[in-house]
Amino acid sequence: MNAPLPLTVAREAAAGAYDKVAAVSNEVAGRLAARLARETQGEVLFAPADRGRYATDASIYQEMPVGVFVPRSAEDVQLALDICRDLKVPIVARGGGTSQCGQTVGAGLVIDYSKHVRKVLDVDVSGRTAVVEPGIVLDHLNASLKKHGLWYPVDVSTSAQATLGGMAGNNSCGSRSVAWGNMVHNVRGIDAWTADGRLHSFGRFDQATGWVREMGEQVRTLAETLAPEIDAVWPKVLRRVAGYNLDVFRNQNPKPYTNDGSVNLAHLLVGSEGTLTLTRSLTLQLSPLPQAKVLGVVNFPTFYKAMDSAQHIVKLGEGTLTAVELVDRTMIELSLQNPAFAPTIRSAVIGQPDAVLLVEFSGSDKATLVRHLDLLVELMADLGLPKSVVRLEDDAAQKNLWEVRKAGLNIMMSLKGDGKPVSFIEDCAVPLEHLAEYTDALTQVFRKHGSRGTWYAHASVGTLHVRPILDMRREGAAKMRAIADEASALVRKYKGAYSGEHGDGLCRGEWIQWQFGPNITRAFGQIKQLFDPNQLLCPRRMIDPPRMDDTRLMRFPPSYKVIPLQPALDWKVWDVQNNPATEQTTAPGTGGDPAHGYAKAVEMCNNNGHCRKFDAGTMCPSYRVTRDEQHLTRGRANTLRLALSGQLGPEGITSPAVREAMDLCVSCKGCKRDCPTGVDMARMKVEFLHHWHAKHGRSLKDRLISALPDYAHRAARFAPLLNMRNRSPLLAKVGEKLLGFSARRSLPEWQSQHFFNQPHSTATREEVLVAAKPAVLFVDTFNGFFESANAQAALKLLQAAGYTVHVAAKTREDGKHLCCGRTYLASGDVAAAKAKAQEVVEALGPLAERGIPIVGLEPSCLLTLRDEHLSLGLGNVAKTIAGQALLLEEFLARELAAGKLETLRDKLRPVEQPILVHGHCHQKAFDAVSPVLKLLQLLPGAKPQLIESSCCGMAGAFGYEASHHEVSMQMAELSLLPAVRQAPDAIVVADGTSCRHQIHDGAGREAVHAAVLLARQLAA
Ligand SMILES: Cc1cc2nc3c(=O)[nH]c(=O)nc-3n(C[C@H](O)[C@H](O)[C@H](O)COP(=O)(O)OP(=O)(O)OC[C@H]3O[C@@H](n4cnc5c(N)ncnc54)[C@H](O)[C@@H]3O)c2cc1C
Ligand code: SF4
Ligand code: SF4
Repeated sequence: MNAPLPLTVAREAAAGAYDKVAAVSNEVAGRLAARLARETQGEVLFAPADRGRYATDASIYQEMPVGVFVPRSAEDVQLALDICRDLKVPIVARGGGTSQCGQTVGAGLVIDYSKHVRKVLDVDVSGRTAVVEPGIVLDHLNASLKKHGLWYPVDVSTSAQATLGGMAGNNSCGSRSVAWGNMVHNVRGIDAWTADGRLHSFGRFDQATGWVREMGEQVRTLAETLAPEIDAVWPKVLRRVAGYNLDVFRNQNPKPYTNDGSVNLAHLLVGSEGTLTLTRSLTLQLSPLPQAKVLGVVNFPTFYKAMDSAQHIVKLGEGTLTAVELVDRTMIELSLQNPAFAPTIRSAVIGQPDAVLLVEFSGSDKATLVRHLDLLVELMADLGLPKSVVRLEDDAAQKNLWEVRKAGLNIMMSLKGDGKPVSFIEDCAVPLEHLAEYTDALTQVFRKHGSRGTWYAHASVGTLHVRPILDMRREGAAKMRAIADEASALVRKYKGAYSGEHGDGLCRGEWIQWQFGPNITRAFGQIKQLFDPNQLLCPRRMIDPPRMDDTRLMRFPPSYKVIPLQPALDWKVWDVQNNPATEQTTAPGTGGDPAHGYAKAVEMCNNNGHCRKFDAGTMCPSYRVTRDEQHLTRGRANTLRLALSGQLGPEGITSPAVREAMDLCVSCKGCKRDCPTGVDMARMKVEFLHHWHAKHGRSLKDRLISALPDYAHRAARFAPLLNMRNRSPLLAKVGEKLLGFSARRSLPEWQSQHFFNQPHSTATREEVLVAAKPAVLFVDTFNGFFESANAQAALKLLQAAGYTVHVAAKTREDGKHLCCGRTYLASGDVAAAKAKAQEVVEALGPLAERGIPIVGLEPSCLLTLRDEHLSLGLGNVAKTIAGQALLLEEFLARELAAGKLETLRDKLRPVEQPILVHGHCHQKAFDAVSPVLKLLQLLPGAKPQLIESSCCGMAGAFGYEASHHEVSMQMAELSLLPAVRQAPDAIVVADGTSCRHQIHDGAGREAVHAAVLLARQLAA
């Protein structure tokens, strides 16, 4: 074993090296990048924007790393470790980067395991263990275990993006830790490299040999020497994640770390936050998947009573109690304001409770669990709250309520303005008997400091989440310190753990000494010394950490400045300030943003990493196929933030780095809907493109795409000639070379006889204004010129349903059709888009003001009236039109619900074939997919199935471009095309023009607009 350097000498040496690197020594960085590129297979990312994207995590901190390394394999990690050791460059290991305390923020080389180092290496079903690489995401692991009836039960809220390596790094804890414990209770072994490059297996101490044994013995000696102190100061709560787990040799946790009393040295690494080793693989203890669950929702008249009752509730269940989660009054109210969640929450609350506790029992059979619910009801009656429990035994009802609990937090996080809910005392854990007094006292502390917090989460284990609202650009840091001081005094008073879930990082490192005292802290230093004498791995984190309120390490320090920018779109709604005590925001446009709200909209991204998820929902297709931080909503928001604040150089938003980050954004609006704070990257991209093109001009391809609505009527006259491109590979190749349209794609087919040059029996503007059942049909460029049968079908359908239909047209006839401006928006030509939108306002305003529905076919066009038109400064008429603008199925489903479609229903013939439905991304973003399903169910015998898909990958013109063809196809292959291929007999319904094209190109199948299918089934 290496003789360790005296601690102080080693620290000074390492700190010196670290400071050099932190100052970004070009020389060291250059050599590091060159060697990584030469000696490994991994991705070497040293550009300022790459470093900037890895300078933050879900904390308030920011520190530029020297560079980023994305290893392709475990071997690459080892090589990088050796190179860093040679060059004395510290290493910051990283998984999903969702830490809340700045654990992955550091000045060295960031190693991102999450892209490639994520294999399941082995599953032992009978022994219930799995061996995994650290970059694997929890949900992905659990999906692969489901078939075995097993799961890994540390169910963190970030399960869709947190990696097992990061979870082990932080000793993460799930909502159900009361039953299954924390990471430390569920890790059986870790293979990891120490800083000297040696790979070790950490497992049972009694079976350890060599260096691991020696190290274990030294740690045991430390634990024995400090036994009285450990017994005296170590928090006796399940949730304590601060410092190193020196108590492996003297367990202080109410739940033993191992079932058989053995000591496992892997547990020393759990919670060490990348400061002791770099993980190569983890051996995990799996659990049987619960077969049944029931939920009791206990309604409390006061928050205090809820907190006071938790200690009694946790004694129920005879081992089947798996969660007791708090939802407070604010969250209940926020959820009630959301029409999607209101019915669920209403069915779970009785009257107006101040708080509810969600009490879950899980096990193998529902009947037994139901009896535990009975006991919960009895207990509450004994505690003076008869009839306070709502019983949810049905699985779907339970699932809906858990969704509401998550959404409440999301709404809270979407507070606009510089004051944000800040996580720094969010997870203090106190013994349950003191929970009521602790939460009460801390609420007073918030009040004293002019803030307030919403309480939620893990009442079962005394870890309630709460984030006071602080403005870190102003007095936030000082207030944070003051609140932390007072909170810590309360934690001490109630013998709790200051760091109970989210780890130490930059935020709580300095509280380690406060928690454990100087002797145990010194022992932690000695442990670090044993593993990493030269402080190569995350230096200055657990040991010798900076102050939590050091503003030089913050993402929004008081010196943070935004470069003035005149945006093209209206972002005023984000340009506000808020009152931390009331959460009231000032009037739009008064927030003092030099970018008039654009910067503040970008800054809404709090880096929580939710956009890294792969589950249901659209966000974020470009990340799903690349797994690159650059091509992720978070990466884009960070790039924009850095650019807007001058951190990527004087070019600001027109920096090429921004263009690169935006390139693969398909403007699907997935983030607008799925991002908890509503980061709307599609709109941000329009703004970016406006500035980019203003500086760099537009290519011929861009101009051809954007001006399509203006030349379509002329071009259609040459349809046979233009369509030759699709028959001639040579012409396609020439087109690719000259214009950039992929030769591997067909282009939409022009029609000589299209909707706009054919006669239709429709109503005039005057006629529709006086009709009994009026409707305006908004026919877009794509359905009008390329697939006019769709527009005809919609017209036929509306007329068959008894509506007097007027086809939307310009008020001043110029031979062109009325257009929403979508193609101009897609290329950032906001002025031209606004001119189009103005024509829409003039033409449709008077009709909308009379309450006449404006019905469209193409989601990306019609929904522009509900979305972007509202940010073009067009006034209230645009809002009125938005209120009347509906997709055909939305309109008809509404009419159906009102009992107005009986005539149409009678005319529809049955469908024999299965029907698969693919929702356009914008339909999904506006919750407009379920009306399609509802409407198709009008067809006798139809059982339409929704394809769980993200973006089809075509995304307007995106997929036609040669440079995007490959990514476009990869997006389609994620789920859409395989689903279509698996159902060869199905009718495929897709309302998006580009979705239909993608299905045609990728699966060789003809998808149809729902209007076509319905019209086809109309009896003659
Ligand atoms: C909205 C939100 C909700 C959250 N909810 C929970 C929750 O319910 N429970 C909970 O416990 N936490 C929660 N967290 C915190 C965080 O998500 C978890 O700690 C998560 O497990 C971190 O995983 P990660 O992959 O993002 O790790 P990262 O943040 O990337 O890394 C975490 C730590 O592990 C180290 N590390 C990563 N990989 C390695 C490796 N290969 N070798 C050595 N060290 C490594 C890092 O250096 C770092 O110190 C939440 C965070 C957010 C933003
Ligand atoms: S873009 Fe949204 S989902 Fe992604 S990290 Fe930022 S806030 Fe979270
Ligand atoms: S618009 Fe779509 S592709 Fe672009 S960042 Fe949002 S989710 Fe990702």
